[in-house]
Amino acid sequence: MRLQLYGHSCRYECENLCRVFFPYSPVEVVNGLEEAPAGLWAQALAEPSPGGFRLAARVGDGERVVSLERTVPMVEEYPLTRMLYEALVRITGTRPAWGMLTGVHPVKLLRQTVKRLGSQAGMEEYREKWQVSPRKAELAGRVLDAQREAAEALGPDDFSLYVGIPFCPTRCAYCSFISQDIAQAQKLMDPYFQLLLAELERVAGIAAALGLRLVSVYIGGGTPTTLTAEQLRLLCGEISRLFDMSHCTEFTVEAGRPDTITREKLEALKAAGVGRISINPQTLSDQVLEAIGRRHSAADVEAAFALAHQVGFQNINADLIVGLPGDGLAGFQNSLQGVLDLGPANVTVHSLALKRSSRLVVEDGDISSHKKAEEAAAMVEHSIRRLTEAGFLPYYLYRQTRMAGNLENTGWALPGSVCRYNIYTMDESGTVIACGAGGVSKIKDPYSGDLQRIFNFKYPYEYISRHQEVLERKDGVIGLYEQFRQRLH
Ligand code: SF4
Repeated sequence: MRLQLYGHSCRYECENLCRVFFPYSPVEVVNGLEEAPAGLWAQALAEPSPGGFRLAARVGDGERVVSLERTVPMVEEYPLTRMLYEALVRITGTRPAWGMLTGVHPVKLLRQTVKRLGSQAGMEEYREKWQVSPRKAELAGRVLDAQREAAEALGPDDFSLYVGIPFCPTRCAYCSFISQDIAQAQKLMDPYFQLLLAELERVAGIAAALGLRLVSVYIGGGTPTTLTAEQLRLLCGEISRLFDMSHCTEFTVEAGRPDTITREKLEALKAAGVGRISINPQTLSDQVLEAIGRRHSAADVEAAFALAHQVGFQNINADLIVGLPGDGLAGFQNSLQGVLDLGPANVTVHSLALKRSSRLVVEDGDISSHKKAEEAAAMVEHSIRRLTEAGFLPYYLYRQTRMAGNLENTGWALPGSVCRYNIYTMDESGTVIACGAGGVSKIKDPYSGDLQRIFNFKYPYEYISRHQEVLERKDGVIGLYEQFRQRLH
């Protein structure tokens, strides 16, 4: 798609809107207007006119053109992007469920709007201004309610710890994460592990010096259970030794791929105080599992759940993905029911998001047909209905670009089993200090709400070779908290 812009600086927003409607078409942005654009194109322009400025949005698909315009006293982002949105709706005949929302956390925006206007007027503005469908607005409202307790429990000095293990047994076809499969990265694992412990020690020193309180720990990846039982024991043991755990109410480890789970590893985690794990089937169709490059079967998922229950884990999360290649509504319904039969406390329903670097996009090209988008939407609808019936509450929600059907990822929990870490990190409502390759620490000023990020190197080899820089960057946490506290006085 060619997107032509003239007379304003709303490039980012206009580009994102085009992607909502055409997620897999590259958007080529042109500054200036072309006389006779060919193929699929859009224009967003602002120019002086009597009475102020003329704003215009036009979209053409080679056969039809939709054109909207209005005069405004000054050039502002919202009226222009709203017109572009309407033009895109008319040419495609589709109204995206999340309306104009792009690049924002839907629940965070709702929280801010409700805080400003109150519940009813806030919800009305959310739906009308951003064109969010009543179903999605209701879902966001339910998430907001379910988060209230965790949000209110968060004190100004509280923080969560994220520990990243960026290795997996094999790479899934839809994955664009930095994770490396262990066959290739075996030689990096030991040095990585040692340096990770060193980073944890540095962070524990910083937390103690600042008087921060650790409230949740999350070991994610990748697949943390690619580590041996001994390494898991050591890692969890070091966390408990280095940090003051007296306020830490949850400790999660993403076991993730069932093909990495053994009794010995689960027992090591249980003995180290881990209370919540994830076992992620993604689907319970063996055919689909094979198509996406997961080296395990539905029976392995069932066996892993049974083993985890035997070892004593009550709070188990299971991830499912809608929109996987070869899957359909009936297949997804079976997977969800199969997962519910396993007795999870949390279920996370992801919508397939394909980045350009994932093998599915590279090999299979465009998978964005409207039929697939509609089917993905029906799967998500089914998950909302079925999980609600089964007593689960939606408690966190986020969206990514290039998601199947422009949908969302939603975490569901039985009452009393929400994962606070997921709320704080997805919603950016609390400080998260992240260790390991690809870790992004989000340091939240508890008084002003500002958020600063500190990035670790993305790939394990960089994390290893430039570890001194990783530690130095971490020291920046001290300066940030000192600033927050000084501003308060
Ligand atoms: S388990 Fe997750 S991180 Fe690992 S390859 Fe599969 S999708 Fe990527």
